[in-house]
Amino acid sequence: ASTWADVPQGPPTIQTTPIADLNFLRKAILGITEAFKADSFKEKINLGVGAYRDDQGKPYVLPSVRIAEDKVVSQLLNKEYAGITGVPEFTKAAALLAYGPDSSALDRVAITQSISGTGALRIGGAFLQRFSPGAKTIYIPNPSWANHAAVFKDSGLTVEKYRYYNKDTIGLDFEGLIADIKGAPKNSIFLLHACAHNPTGVDPTPEQWKEISEAVKSGDHYAFFDMAYQGFASGDTDKDAFPIRYFIEQGHNPALAQSFAKNMGLYGERVGAFSIVCADAEEKKRVDSQIKILVRPLYSNPPVHGARVASTILNDPALNKQWLGEVKEMADRIITMRALLKKELENLGSKHDWSHITSQIGMFAYTGLTPEQMDTLAKEHSVYATKDGRISVAGITTGNVKRLAAAIHAVKP
Ligand code: PLP
Repeated sequence: ASTWADVPQGPPTIQTTPIADLNFLRKAILGITEAFKADSFKEKINLGVGAYRDDQGKPYVLPSVRIAEDKVVSQLLNKEYAGITGVPEFTKAAALLAYGPDSSALDRVAITQSISGTGALRIGGAFLQRFSPGAKTIYIPNPSWANHAAVFKDSGLTVEKYRYYNKDTIGLDFEGLIADIKGAPKNSIFLLHACAHNPTGVDPTPEQWKEISEAVKSGDHYAFFDMAYQGFASGDTDKDAFPIRYFIEQGHNPALAQSFAKNMGLYGERVGAFSIVCADAEEKKRVDSQIKILVRPLYSNPPVHGARVASTILNDPALNKQWLGEVKEMADRIITMRALLKKELENLGSKHDWSHITSQIGMFAYTGLTPEQMDTLAKEHSVYATKDGRISVAGITTGNVKRLAAAIHAVKP
């Protein structure tokens, strides 16, 4: 028999698994893609995509990225290996962007380039598995980006969930969240979405972040921030970084996964960073050495092109300014589409409260529609999104928002 005769057929792997119930979602998302493709209706709408789309519904390459690429290419740089921790001008600028120019963390942060946000989470998982002094249990929100569970499980951590979303209010289960942080065994690890929570679009307020910081502290827990959408949520990179900067002010020394997939539209270039804020420069040196020991056998060193592009954008003052404007444009388009959808629903005379559509933030919105209503949306209105009621706001355009509102109004009159 073949050596691999006993390898079982796994379920299809999909990239943007939005909720923790993987098997349900595999079916749901695959079903959507297939059904969307098979639908011959010209005005069909796909709200399942996990990447930004412009107002024509097309993938978008930022003009600042095009310029930065030209600059990188015209320098005729060689293609030698980067060091284990990547392109130093990139990681330095990434830390500055996340922590802010006045941060006390800048001289004591151990940072490495990573294979986008996923790779940053994976390095973090491996580091915590090896060195975390506690029970090596990481708590992720319920629901969370479903890859979180897989990444941390494969890193050898035990994965648990904390309460996050309240489906009755279509908002944050703040009491549940605080109770679960306080109730967890001491020295647990808490994975926190810094902004634009995926999949719910529900973020804590600054006041609530203050209480979360207190709760994490009171349990002697460790905070690991996932910031996959800096700037993409509010349009302002400083505002979106508030939670992590606040935690540092309060004396936490968190870990951080950064991605440039969304805010620079560099999805396929895989540009990210993983960092750990250390107690002091001496601790940083030791942590740095262990990060290198972890990364070396994983992939030796990261790819250079995307990091050079991001580095050019972050370090060239004029280009940086242009990019911040483009990030804001993307965020604003999404915020505008939320407002338009709500307004169209109100214009149709909907008696339901749709304010959660505009109070949520980022690429995704939890509509509160039931699986049955989502089914009818697809079957009778050619509007495709996951059964959990999540829609990608990036898929809404000025051209399709009226029809979308009419369809939602028809399934939930
Ligand atoms: N974390 C969250 C919450 C995400 O939504 C995503 C992407 O959808 C990622 C991390 C990682 O993405 P990437 O590996 O493309 O940077």
